[in-house]
Amino acid sequence: MGELLGKYRSLKVFLDICVKCGACADKCHYYLGTGDPNNMPVARQELMRKVYRKHFTPAGKLFPGLSRAEDLTEDVMEQWYRYYHQCSQCRRCSVFCPYGIDTAEISMAAREIMDSVGIGQKYCNEILGKVNSIGNNLGINKAALGNTLEFVEEDVKETTGVDVRYPLDEKGAEVLLIAPSADFFSEPHIQGFTGYGKVFHEAGVSWTVSSYASEFANFGMFIGNYGVMQKVARRIKDAALDLGVKRIVVGECGHAWRVAYSFWNTLIGPFDFLDPKHRNPTHICEYSLDLIKRGGLKLDKSANDSLTVTFHDSCNVARGSRMGDMPGGQFEVPRDLIKAMCNNYVEMNEDTIKEVTYCCGGGGGLLTDELMDLRVKGVLPRANALHDVMQNKGVNTMATICAICKAQFTKVLPYYGIPMETVASVHQLVSNAIVLGGKKGV
Ligand code: SF4
Ligand code: SF4
Repeated sequence: MGELLGKYRSLKVFLDICVKCGACADKCHYYLGTGDPNNMPVARQELMRKVYRKHFTPAGKLFPGLSRAEDLTEDVMEQWYRYYHQCSQCRRCSVFCPYGIDTAEISMAAREIMDSVGIGQKYCNEILGKVNSIGNNLGINKAALGNTLEFVEEDVKETTGVDVRYPLDEKGAEVLLIAPSADFFSEPHIQGFTGYGKVFHEAGVSWTVSSYASEFANFGMFIGNYGVMQKVARRIKDAALDLGVKRIVVGECGHAWRVAYSFWNTLIGPFDFLDPKHRNPTHICEYSLDLIKRGGLKLDKSANDSLTVTFHDSCNVARGSRMGDMPGGQFEVPRDLIKAMCNNYVEMNEDTIKEVTYCCGGGGGLLTDELMDLRVKGVLPRANALHDVMQNKGVNTMATICAICKAQFTKVLPYYGIPMETVASVHQLVSNAIVLGGKKGV
């Protein structure tokens, strides 16, 4: 802990300044879903604060009983493991804290400390093993990836009659597309991936997927280890250099966008080998919206007329990154894109969107069946807000731009009577509305 306190100044400040005002207490979806008082953000922080007091404050050293200080015993460590893995690092609580205390940072530090003594989380570490050995979280090898891309090509040909390419490892392509690997297999992710290819086709831009860096997700963030985060991200830079691309465009994944937007430059920058005309990386939503604004896409919004759409802001995009050139672009870019694709759009309750959006309940490395009970409870605030617009405003589709949100929602919303088909990729709507061959390049 001493090492981390020296490394992350914010951690020490957060541990020192809480006044126990309680403003954060009822802001965590896991507290709202489970009713467990230890899931109040202030209580979650307190688990680490007690150990901090014992070893790093004079009062805690001299009067541990009076200052509620304790050692990091095995029992305490068990509590840490339990409750720091019931925090999806979504940062919602920090928005309501008058001092801006970020429980997510405390959770990340706790996980880093636990990892350093060999108490890692099996799910995250297995995923990281696969990304390091095979190149993606799902363990999809190059042959299987090639087959998937061929399947998508055939599907698009069959449904539209147009030859749209989904290339793999093509040297000299202009764009390297880095997608979360769920985009290659899962639903509704793959419908979004299909949309990415249609956008590039219409833009008249050559692009490629890399079999070496076939993963945008970066679970290094979830285990709180910047070294691991750097190692995972490094594969992407190496692939971009090897393929000789001019630009990196990334797909729909929330925490991965946070890593790319907020950390890539420090971890794997500079990107001076890429074309300086473009923002690198570019989010696929920025890319598609920009193309629309420049008149590069012909769209038929009526293709989505059977849908009344709402949008779930993913927590890492909302509170850990930005899009476009304006403050709040991370809220407006996806909304503008959706509104360009469909005629029927509805917002959920304002207490549940944009900067105060709720996590889907499966973020932060918690998307494992072992935590299914927690995941079902953690989705409660979002399920309630969605249910409200489904009942009162006819919403039948909730679009989102995060692979984890899509996987979590399709699995747990049915527990609340909401069909899995309600969940959509934003680029699925794009895919539906694009008129192929309508315009070529700009
Ligand atoms: S960061 Fe999110 S999951 Fe963690 S305590 Fe705060 S609200 Fe809960
Ligand atoms: S809102 Fe901030 S200061 Fe108040 S209890 Fe929560 S963490 Fe502490």
